[in-house]
Amino acid sequence: MPTDFRRTKQMFDLPEGIVYLDGNSLGPLPRAASARISQAVTAEWGEMLIGGWNKAGWMEQPARLGDRIGRIIGAEPGCTVLGDTLSIKVWQALASSLSLRPDRRIILSDEGNFPSDLYMAEGLAQMLGGDYRLVTVPPERVADAIDESVAVLMLTEVDYRTGRRHDMADLTRRAHESGALAIWDLAHSAGAMPVDVAAGGADFACGCTYKYLNGGPGAPGFIYVAPRHADAIPALSGWLGHDAPFAFERTYRPGAGVQRMRVGTPPVIQMAALESALDVWDDVDLADIRAASLALSDRFIAGIEAACPDLTLATPRDHAQRGSQVSFRHAEGYAIMQALIARGLIGDFRAPDILRFGLTPLYIGIEDVDRAIAILTEVMQGGLWDRPEYKVRSAVT
Ligand SMILES: *Cc1c(COP(=O)(O)O)cnc(C)c1O
Repeated sequence: MPTDFRRTKQMFDLPEGIVYLDGNSLGPLPRAASARISQAVTAEWGEMLIGGWNKAGWMEQPARLGDRIGRIIGAEPGCTVLGDTLSIKVWQALASSLSLRPDRRIILSDEGNFPSDLYMAEGLAQMLGGDYRLVTVPPERVADAIDESVAVLMLTEVDYRTGRRHDMADLTRRAHESGALAIWDLAHSAGAMPVDVAAGGADFACGCTYKYLNGGPGAPGFIYVAPRHADAIPALSGWLGHDAPFAFERTYRPGAGVQRMRVGTPPVIQMAALESALDVWDDVDLADIRAASLALSDRFIAGIEAACPDLTLATPRDHAQRGSQVSFRHAEGYAIMQALIARGLIGDFRAPDILRFGLTPLYIGIEDVDRAIAILTEVMQGGLWDRPEYKVRSAVT
């Protein structure tokens, strides 16, 4: 059955009069989440107290919800677990990968990768000492930069600024042919388009759940470990990754497979929110999401290019290379975005000059895109952004 996007839109609580094109940064509130969170607080924490770990299934939640995310990213069952933040999951994936390629020293990534991923790689390389090194190249040069010095290729499938998409299967195959591993950050692809980590050959994958998966601010990260790496060292050896946490053994013994990637106590209440967000996906076909997202982004690009010649498209026109966002460049991008937000069109700004708009068919339709085009056109053609109050930078842009 084709996905009913009118039904999915009804499942979100969006303020009246707003066009929300920022679900790529923070997904909106699923209607069912408030009651589910309230139940976790009053009926579980309030009534069960410490018993909630057993009676309400809190301890299994990271694996149970991990598997629901696993279905969205094409993972084999039992290979995905939730916890911590994406940055930490990136660090674990990197450290495990390096331990699997002890004779190699290079982490290869692209210059457009999200700073936290690059900082994590650099920090880990420094900590390991020796000649461990992060090497970054422009995104279109990654394929040529893979050689036999590379221990691990670490890429974000969809670039957070431009929305440019890498070919996961092709680059992973090239990495493997050179004897390297491949880590994929799915922050801008999980829930945005079909992803198939198993078929794509990913060794490790990780992502966050507060963007396209709508788990709410503070929702945990996830990590996928390919079954062939089930015995890889977990890198952060916390007690909940132990094979028997409640045996309180003096010696760390890693748990089975991806369970060893757990570190400490999970955020139970936040995961209640994530659980209701994942319910939305039960009757959603990611191929329908992809088709609708491309139609919306094509329409948005055509509308803006026709009306706003001062904005330069930063997102690839080629569908195969496009994620689920559209970005334009403008030197006054920050002020323009504030003027849009003041008129009810919410996107965001990424330094130095990117205006970013996420197109999320679960709750965004053609009428929203047409309103967005109209508001952006009004702001650009009237120069309405050129006011001092739109140039005052907030902490979060
Ligand atoms: C959003 C995002 C992050 C953020 O990581 P947190 O640890 O969850 O704050 C990291 N990497 C990429 C590629 C992102 O898009």
